[in-house]
Amino acid sequence: MIILGHFVSNEFWPGVSNRISEIRNPATGAVTGKAALASIEDVDTIVKTAALAAPAWAATPPASRATIMFEFRDLLTKHTDELAELLSSEHGKSLPDAKAEIARGIEVVEFACGIPQLLKNEHSEIDAEEVASFSVRQPLGVVAGITPFNFPAMIPLWMYPVAIACGNTFVLKPSEKDPSVVMRIAELFAQAGLPPGVFNVVNGDKVAADALLNHPQVEAISFVGSTAIGQHIYARGSTNGKRVQALCGAKNHLVVMPDADLDRVTDALIGSAGERCMAMSVAVPVGEDTANRLIEALVPRVRAMKVAPFTDPSSELGPVISKQSYDRIHTYIEQGLDMGAELVVDGRDITLQGYEDGYFIGGCLFDHVTADMPIYKDEIFGPVLSVVRVASYEDAVGLINDHEFGNGTAIFTREGDAARDFWARARTGIVGVNVPIPVPVAYHSFGGWKRSLFGDHHIHGMEGVRFNTRLKTMTSRWSSGIRTGAKFNFTDGKDL
Ligand code: NAD
Repeated sequence: MIILGHFVSNEFWPGVSNRISEIRNPATGAVTGKAALASIEDVDTIVKTAALAAPAWAATPPASRATIMFEFRDLLTKHTDELAELLSSEHGKSLPDAKAEIARGIEVVEFACGIPQLLKNEHSEIDAEEVASFSVRQPLGVVAGITPFNFPAMIPLWMYPVAIACGNTFVLKPSEKDPSVVMRIAELFAQAGLPPGVFNVVNGDKVAADALLNHPQVEAISFVGSTAIGQHIYARGSTNGKRVQALCGAKNHLVVMPDADLDRVTDALIGSAGERCMAMSVAVPVGEDTANRLIEALVPRVRAMKVAPFTDPSSELGPVISKQSYDRIHTYIEQGLDMGAELVVDGRDITLQGYEDGYFIGGCLFDHVTADMPIYKDEIFGPVLSVVRVASYEDAVGLINDHEFGNGTAIFTREGDAARDFWARARTGIVGVNVPIPVPVAYHSFGGWKRSLFGDHHIHGMEGVRFNTRLKTMTSRWSSGIRTGAKFNFTDGKDL
């Protein structure tokens, strides 16, 4: 079995560490690959390579960087099927989901193709007599990314196309659970003409992440993952003087108003199930009648969700990522039952022939969940939907705003006034109106509030450009000639 190493200077490199991790197919539980777990020395070698490549890349005109981005975009599009297959084989999600994830990642590359326009800056011609000012945004140097397992292609793509287009070099540490797709994409980026050392991948775990946080040549860290780890990344990174953005855990509420189109609501809730930071994992129907109608509409849909490995084209819900996640989700379900929530659809009892050792859990639906229950408070990160019944719209807004997390939320209503009030008052970074999973298009920025984000900047869009560049403002005085009467005559070689 090949051991996946690292990608540095546009080549695969095994590194010097002798630690390795096992990559499993979550549909079968079988080990399908192994990946190196970098040592501090490995990280040092890779960061130094990225640092060495940084000055020349920063001096490369943005239009030339964009030319490579265009080529990269075309290669990603051309190889989408192959990339999706690789992604699904380690993550377990269905092929349409994997392709959709790659398509969303490509959007960020398309955004980065516009970098010459995005880096145009501010200039004021006359601040005082003969005095002008302008501001530029310069690259930081080496930027690192640390990413989670759940979108192994898209989430890294939220980060490095913008960072690299801005003139930085990049070191990515993907999740050790499904790193192969990133390695193939790195090859494609090299094929697109990216100079060696500009985009590098280090495979590893906490040792590699901490080595990046401690490395003096890493200027900034983009992190996406759980809140506990994100808080550590933010604290350690900022103590070490780095710029950090850490996008973290979530518990997203979908408010169902009495006038909502329930077909749309059920589509939204079913379509956002599972291991997503933008999963709408809490439905909040307003009023008993709305709640009863919602449960009635949801039960058959949750029961009918096709649970199958990605190789089955009709799969709607693949396995969860690991045995550890599987056990954690089961524990939450038992806790919910113990505390009195009503499990109206129980997806635990599921066996798929030939996949008995896979980590499959069918859709689970809890009704009568209350705000003190761990199934409400914590991020379960599995196919478990909780319904919290509230008496009024104000109660729904209060519930959202009191929650520890503030990643995203959505309201379904036909009432414009309620929608406007909702997006104005919801204390979350992302808001949807009659839209589930409202992750914006790449030219807008994405990120949460409260304990869903540590740091100031959201990711991609203009916030991504700001995060990946540093502002410099220059003030200058040049004699205008009008005041001094100087003649600008260069022909006799004399001064002015
Ligand atoms: P995770 O926090 O376990 O891992 C994320 C990354 O951190 C991985 O690369 C991992 O190797 C590294 N890591 C793990 N332990 C570490 C440690 N002790 N020190 C340093 N680094 C460490 O997250 P996960 O399980 O891979 O992903 C799921 C989480 O990601 C969920 O909480 C989900 O909400 C969150 N997520 C958030 C967003 C968002 O945009 N806010 C998007 C996707 C996923």
